[in-house]
Amino acid sequence: MKTSLKIILIAIIGVWSVAAWAAEPSKLPKLVDLGADKCIPCKAMAPILKDLKAEYAGRMDVEFIDVWKNPDAGKTYKIKLIPTQIFFDASGKERFRHEGFFGKEDILAKWKELGVDIKAKASAGIVRETPVAADTRPRESVCFMCDENVNPKTKTLVKGQSEQRVLCGPHCYFIYLSSIVGVDPKAEEAKVSVTDWASGTLTPAASASYLYGMDAKGRATIKAFADKDAATKEQQTSPGSLVTWEVLCGKELSTRCAFCDRAVYPEDACNVKIGATRGYGCCTHCSMGVAARLQKDIEVEAKDGQTGEPIRVKTVAGQIASLEPATAIAWFGQKKSTDGKWVSAGCFKQAFFVSEANLQKWLEARPAMTGRQITIAQALADKIKLSPDQIAKACKLGECK
Ligand SMILES: [Zn+2]
Ligand SMILES: [Zn+2]
Repeated sequence: MKTSLKIILIAIIGVWSVAAWAAEPSKLPKLVDLGADKCIPCKAMAPILKDLKAEYAGRMDVEFIDVWKNPDAGKTYKIKLIPTQIFFDASGKERFRHEGFFGKEDILAKWKELGVDIKAKASAGIVRETPVAADTRPRESVCFMCDENVNPKTKTLVKGQSEQRVLCGPHCYFIYLSSIVGVDPKAEEAKVSVTDWASGTLTPAASASYLYGMDAKGRATIKAFADKDAATKEQQTSPGSLVTWEVLCGKELSTRCAFCDRAVYPEDACNVKIGATRGYGCCTHCSMGVAARLQKDIEVEAKDGQTGEPIRVKTVAGQIASLEPATAIAWFGQKKSTDGKWVSAGCFKQAFFVSEANLQKWLEARPAMTGRQITIAQALADKIKLSPDQIAKACKLGECK
């Protein structure tokens, strides 16, 4: 009673914003660190708080309050010295406070000791570690990049040293090209063969002619021809521009993912607003990564993987500032690597959904898919915690993590 009276009084004298959540139950456990940006142990706390904030996004709230800049907060929390860390459980009840520097492991151990499971939320939602049905399609009929069935009329081959990669069409070749590091694109193009639309036989990509058209959704379509006359003939019934390999390369590589730099068609991508400029995320998770790569606040418009319904995410300082609809969730497509670790299954296996029900339907149609449901806050946090070096390698073949 006394405490609530005090809270009311404090609210009246104008620090309502600070006192409000302390009085109201918060949905997540919360760690409040009261310090100042110039105190030495407080400074040592800063990277720990940043880490916890990213790692436990959606499972624990972490707040830093600078009591030199905001002296009322010091009174509200009745602290004696800085830094002080206060542990609130999900009902908003204070469970513990610590004075002085407090290490990350100590903080985590304290939550455990208090019986507050801050990992609990991560295990909620859908997890699929083993495929419902194995993918039995022959390897040569599956695109190496996007995992779709290869249309024999657009099949594209890249010859490697020991193996050849089968791609569903020239567009996936450009995604492949923009996902490999340390190669000479000219040397690479000599290895590429495309299927001649007219005869169905393979022909070197660099010397073929291309009919570059557009489907009903405005997405580019590419037909390759060994013989230019055959391309001209096709153009009469199927409109498009007749282009050389060189022009095709320029077109295909002109639009890139603002996070991983892969070639992308805007029709397949998430729209990302970065201040006054616009970019694309080649997948939903890459779109979150734009905030990490550019260190800027972004607005993302993604489409539900199942229904195409819009999902809007705004970030501020590497955190989710708003999410519409609030029920939206992410699917983190993962696969087990040879050393037994779960790694990202790549950009083509990631998606956002407006609801868990939509994810469920999407998974039913994809029995071979493995991975787990995560929050969109977690999808963002996973990207924010990457180092610049990791970002530079993000989504590159063999580096996808
Ligand atoms: Zn493909
Ligand atoms: Zn990307």
